[in-house]
Amino acid sequence: MIIKMKLNAKKEEIEHVIEILERRGLKVKDASGDEYSVFGVIGDTTKIDIRDIEALNGVEKVTRIQEPFKQVNRAFKSGDTVVDVRGVKIGGGNFTIMAGPCSVESRHQISEISRAVSKSGAHILRGGAYKPRTSPYSFQGMGGEGLEILKEAREETGMPIVTELMAVSLVDRFEKDVDIIQIGARNMQNYDLLKAVGRTKKPVLLKRGMSSTIEEWLMAAEYIMAGGNPNVILCERGIRTFENYTRNTLDLSAVLAVKRLSHLPVIVDPSHGTGKRWMIRDMAMAAAAVGADGLMIEVHNDPENALSDGAQSLTPEEFHETVAGVKRILTVVGKKF
Ligand code: PEP
Ligand code: MN
Repeated sequence: MIIKMKLNAKKEEIEHVIEILERRGLKVKDASGDEYSVFGVIGDTTKIDIRDIEALNGVEKVTRIQEPFKQVNRAFKSGDTVVDVRGVKIGGGNFTIMAGPCSVESRHQISEISRAVSKSGAHILRGGAYKPRTSPYSFQGMGGEGLEILKEAREETGMPIVTELMAVSLVDRFEKDVDIIQIGARNMQNYDLLKAVGRTKKPVLLKRGMSSTIEEWLMAAEYIMAGGNPNVILCERGIRTFENYTRNTLDLSAVLAVKRLSHLPVIVDPSHGTGKRWMIRDMAMAAAAVGADGLMIEVHNDPENALSDGAQSLTPEEFHETVAGVKRILTVVGKKF
């Protein structure tokens, strides 16, 4: 952390700033030039809120040199994290596809879709049992019964399952029943939930909050890792911008940023990222081209009658074509499928 004092900062103000930092166990080194008083702060500054220092009399500007996240930081770990989900590897040169409907609607629906996506090359089955819906009048998911249906599909196809957790009270059940716990965009900053999944060793799929910066997203991942769970997979699912042609703005540059800042795997969800079925294949290929470690895609056997997100769900045939397109890109970027 670098602190630049105001041109006319008083000696007492400078001494006060130094005293405050030293009281917190930090070392302060003078790096002043001819005009400005400048200090370098050495030590663990993760607990310092730079706004508190900037508010002190005589301080002009405080700049962080080190990112506020540690365990998530690429600088603190050599190599990429590879998350192992029942033998399916996510990250580190592998490309992993999660596919399935937005919501679990019935045993028949999941059985049909899971068999189809598995045949087309999907590695992991997705499906929401507990659904975070904008309207309380919309379908809220099948709950516990939905989880049982997903488990049956896992038996039938051998595919691991990923589904969204919304309540701390269900953590134990999810830990027992599912292979990846999904934390949805709406709960990315639900710190109780992040701490609760951090206490488990289950792989966690952490979706980016719809108005979250990359740093806030990585800090949410830091919560899970700080709790003792290293198995975090990030998912870019689009953010809110002024653009409303698409449901969200799929931020593919976030993949590059996350890869530079962190060792964690990052996958892309072009379904929620665009909201439009016809954009999914090309955005999936773009995600593969930009270096994503995988995809999450919504697939429905009857999108027109889906109980949620039908407009952004591929048919099994369209999914098959999408996988073929993605595979072509993967041969170019050199990832294992
Ligand atoms: C979902 O995956 O169905 C979902 C609700 O996603 P998000 O949290 O990204 O909106
Ligand atoms: Mn959905």
